[in-house]
This record gives sequence, C-alpha cells and structure tokens, in this order.
Amino acid sequence: MARPGGPGRSIIQLGRSRRSGGLSRAGWIAIAAGIFVLSLLVRTCVSGGDGQEASGAPPQVASPTPSLTATPVHFDAVLQQLTGFIFPIRGACIPDADSVMPNAPRTYRNGVHEGVDFYDELSCATVTRGTNVMATRDGLVTRADRDYRPLTRAEAANADSLPETLDRFRGRQVWIDHGADGSGRRIVTRYAHLDSIEPGTVVGQRVRAGQVIAHVGNSGTPESLDQPNAELHLHFELRIGEGFLSQGDAPDVVRRAYARLFA
Ligand SMILES: [Zn+2]
Repeated sequence: MARPGGPGRSIIQLGRSRRSGGLSRAGWIAIAAGIFVLSLLVRTCVSGGDGQEASGAPPQVASPTPSLTATPVHFDAVLQQLTGFIFPIRGACIPDADSVMPNAPRTYRNGVHEGVDFYDELSCATVTRGTNVMATRDGLVTRADRDYRPLTRAEAANADSLPETLDRFRGRQVWIDHGADGSGRRIVTRYAHLDSIEPGTVVGQRVRAGQVIAHVGNSGTPESLDQPNAELHLHFELRIGEGFLSQGDAPDVVRRAYARLFA
C-alpha cells in the first residue's frame, strides 16, 4: 500500500521549480492533481486496497464481520445451534454410502436427495418393517399422517417434480418442529416412508428426544405397490427454513455435518 503524501509532495515541488517565489498555472494544476491522487490513495487504503474504486464499484467499508460467502454457513453457523439430537433409530450410525446421503443425485425430488436413508445393514442397525423410529430431539408434532392413503400406480408413474408429487413419494410421514434458529428459520425433522404411527404422535403434541413416534415401512416408494418387503428404510430429513442441512455441500462436508449433528 502506498504511503499517503509521498507522491503528492513531489508534484508540488515540481510546480514550484518553474518560477521562484510563486506558482505557475501548471504548478496549481499539478497541486490539484496531487490532491486528487492523494484522496484516491486514502480512499483505497480505507477500503482495504482491493482496487474496487477503480472498477466503479461502490466503496467497500472495512468491517470486522466476515462476509456471508466467507462463512461456512451450513457447517458451523447453523450446526452450533443444532444440539441435543440423537439418531432416529437405536444403534444407528451415519451410512457409508454417499448415495443415501443429502445432495445425492435423484431422478425425482428436484434432482437431489434431501435427507439420510437408514437401511438395514447400511447404518449399523437392524432396519425392517416395524422398527421403532424415535424423535431425534424434543419438539412439537406438526404433521402425522394417520389417515394416509397409499401411493397409487398413476402417482408412482408421475415424473414431474411438483411439491405435492414429491410429498406423495415420501409416503406416510411425521414432522416435528424444534423451534427456530438464530435467523428465525424453523428447524423441522421429517420421518418418511413410515409403516405406522404411534398413538401418542398427534399434531400439537410435544414429544421428547428418544420417544418412539412411528415405525419403519416403505410407504410412498414405487416398490411398495408390488414388493411389500422391498425398500424398507427410514428417510430422515432435517429442514432449516426452506432448505435442508448441508444443502449443496460436498459429500465429506455433509458427512461431517450429520456426524456432528448426532454426536
Ligand atoms: Zn431418502
């Protein structure tokens, strides 16, 4: 960064050398130019010297607050507020396969998987029809599909990705609201493809972490139409506002985020 004053002083001296005792017209122009250059230098230093002044961008004001793009929002800022969670299935672990983790490519659901699938033998626990599903944190039940209508063949053949279509592919569900994060976004867990729901899991009811709320099934999967024992698994989502935890992150970042969530 240039020292303010250095270049300006030399221009003033240059103007005086033309005629002793006073300044020439060229000297005054040189002084004005020097002051202008000085003001530019000072402003550039204040803005961090990033050269944005020259490109015509608005002046940047130095701030101790890091910019949003520099902060790993998904992993740190949000996760710090996501405490007290447990696995939804007793003895479960984070699956090794990226294909069952958030952001994995899907031909439906807007192109990506938005949660974690807990399958038998892939998640350290026995997962079969009727396996207990637990609330992952204290919260308020906001959805419990007690009068669930099974997926039809026409719905299973539906290739669009409209929200109502995608919702049908999640089958029988329970949603639990866990309050808001620091930005006012709702933190909600979704439990999908359920076979049945516990009597105490009612909309408006408070549940505790570890409370059995439902049981594993394969509702909502196309396989459920013809193969009752196929695709038995729990699809678990952690929603934050309109998005989901670790949305758009690389697989290793996603894995660390969910491991920390359930730690
Ligand atoms: Zn899933």
